[in-house]
Amino acid sequence: MEDKIRKAAEILVGAQNAVALTGAGISTESGIPDFRSPGGLWTKVDPGEFSLDRFLQNPTRFWRLHLDLKASGEFDLASAAPNAAHAALARLEQMGLVKCVITQNVDNLHQRAGSVEVVEFHGNMLRAACLRCRAAEPIEDVEARLTAGDPDAARCRKCQGVLKPDAVFFGEAIPAKAMNISHVQSQKCDALLVIGTSLQVYPAAQIPMTVKLKYPPAQVLEINREPSALHEQVTDVLMLGSAGDLMTRLLNTVEELLKR
Ligand code: NAD
Repeated sequence: MEDKIRKAAEILVGAQNAVALTGAGISTESGIPDFRSPGGLWTKVDPGEFSLDRFLQNPTRFWRLHLDLKASGEFDLASAAPNAAHAALARLEQMGLVKCVITQNVDNLHQRAGSVEVVEFHGNMLRAACLRCRAAEPIEDVEARLTAGDPDAARCRKCQGVLKPDAVFFGEAIPAKAMNISHVQSQKCDALLVIGTSLQVYPAAQIPMTVKLKYPPAQVLEINREPSALHEQVTDVLMLGSAGDLMTRLLNTVEELLKR
């Protein structure tokens, strides 16, 4: 593994526009389950519950499920703290080596770890937003009203529209701004650091394909417990193991290289 980490560190140090693409696997060491690993969220909850159609059929039912998942600790994002992998990635950005983090995660942990240029590709589950006027508020405010039994708990304070977690549900489009920035970053990127994503969810999984197919192609560095679905097509340096451990070692090696 040392030689792979060293190769990845050399690529990052030599890159002009390195970008990170992260998924649920970077947050499992913070206690948030991913979706597809054994024991992941989809083994406990029907993914259909996170579809726009089903949400619209009965928003109250969804919000009850949301409170249950939070109370059971199965998907309690607010109580989680960033881990060593989030911290190392934030440090690489502070050092000027990683220009931005495109995340599929909805847990706000990159921002809390200190990453500044974060593209929320699938939104943010710590906010609720009105489906009519788009006004947003902290999801904990909605949760507090639900818990207190307010009959209008999941109604917009401004226009009485329906409030939904501000995360992209199945059947919803990727936010246009996130899509555009990701496109621009993919075109500029010369090194893509992929961390904790199975690359099975599109269009996010298109990003490594895009950076590999453009000319000149970017180098793709992948950190995952299990190889992603696209590793044979896109990955130049595959590092299998814990994101917290590997990102710490990658950061240390980068710092050693820069000292020379
Ligand atoms: P996924 O569940 O499909 O894949 C997770 C990947 O991370 C797998 O390849 C797995 O091997 C790897 N992994 C798990 N733990 C790891 C660890 N400790 N170290 C290194 N690798 C690890 O996740 P995905 O590709 O992100 O797709 C799921 C979708 O669900 C995303 O779009 C995301 O929006 C959403 N999601 C988000 C969160 C969150 O915000 N934390 C949690 C679950 C799901």
